[in-house]
Amino acid sequence: MNILVINCGSSSLKYQLIDMSNEEVLAKGLSERIGIEGSRVKHKPAGKEAVVIEKPMEDHKVALEIVLNALVDPNHGAIKSMDEINAVGHRVVHGGEKFANSVKIDEDVMNAVKDCIELAPLHNPPNIMGIEACKELMPNVPMVGVFDTAFHQTMPESSYIYPLPYELYEKHGIRRYGFHGTSHKYVANRASEMLNKDLKDLKVITCHLGNGASVAAIDNGKVIDTSMGLTPLEGLAMGTRSGDIDPAIVTFIMDKEGLDIDGANKLLNKKSGVLGISGVSSDFRDIEEAAEKGNKRAKLALDVFGNRVRKYIGAYAAMMGGVDAIVFTAGLGENSPETREDVCKGLEFIGIEIDTEKNNVRGKETVVSKDNSKVEVLVIPTNEELMIARDTKKLV
Ligand code: ADP
Repeated sequence: MNILVINCGSSSLKYQLIDMSNEEVLAKGLSERIGIEGSRVKHKPAGKEAVVIEKPMEDHKVALEIVLNALVDPNHGAIKSMDEINAVGHRVVHGGEKFANSVKIDEDVMNAVKDCIELAPLHNPPNIMGIEACKELMPNVPMVGVFDTAFHQTMPESSYIYPLPYELYEKHGIRRYGFHGTSHKYVANRASEMLNKDLKDLKVITCHLGNGASVAAIDNGKVIDTSMGLTPLEGLAMGTRSGDIDPAIVTFIMDKEGLDIDGANKLLNKKSGVLGISGVSSDFRDIEEAAEKGNKRAKLALDVFGNRVRKYIGAYAAMMGGVDAIVFTAGLGENSPETREDVCKGLEFIGIEIDTEKNNVRGKETVVSKDNSKVEVLVIPTNEELMIARDTKKLV
């Protein structure tokens, strides 16, 4: 069975075609600049050179058409005909409270996803466009929606209710949802496999540290808390997002800087985080380089980032009454030994002891804690696409 995994952003469409008989990726790629000048598809068939197809793409449907043609192309394709695509799995960012698991997409599901647009105005509309494009171009192929919020639906009320008037939750669904759920779920399961223990017998803290970053506390196989909230703005300091701040700052800066709602949103989502502090970049590689050269604000940005992650780990260990394993994943978590070491620094008192030598790895699944460390520290490259493909296979 071949499954096409689709992840649509506002001007992008990422895809992977996976052969589920051996979970091998047959081809993958990225269509970018959809709807603007210079649109193109970078297509990489397994074992062959990547190709770049430059063509105008006015919308996601045109982009998908080009992707499907690339997949069946006699030279750089991966399959002979579209009939070899047996199902499509879609990443959907927000599933609200309706979806605690992946689902087969039908009319009711589409309506429920549309209801969640209000909660994720930037993310759900392109996800919907991707689903609709597939429906038009492959009307008979079954489709599954996999939600970023689903894995976190096990959070208890005491974790997801904000200390705000309760009616706001009832009227507008204002509560904590959490994101990156597919990634947290994948790495937590891999951790239990690597440690040869049932996830139900483990207390795990998963740290998804990429441009967007979040931490999750998983006890007994269930998420009991996670750092992102109603939107992916809450929690850690991120590439360009502020994470937790005193909420009073929002109205204060709106007043002082003469910002409207859009301006305030932009400031908190696009100009803050480590970019805001350092003034250098949102990319941790640039910031690490600047810090090494003595840039004080770059060093400060890294310190703030590390502090926040450490603070969440401490809080989650307290909430779970201990921790058995810490997992690092995503761009930074997988590739930055410095960040992992910094985060674990000072956490020896709860039994976290990182091994500097073992920790000197990038993008590899491995244990990086000392042999006698009470808490296992693992690096696990995330694989959200495989997770989506597995759920899709299960449901169709
Ligand atoms: P997202 O999916 O949220 O866009 P990723 O998980 O791809 O983000 O992570 C991207 C970030 O990972 C980059 O901004 C970069 O800062 C960081 N990163 C990637 N490779 C390295 C590396 N070798 N060293 C330090 N940071 C890295």
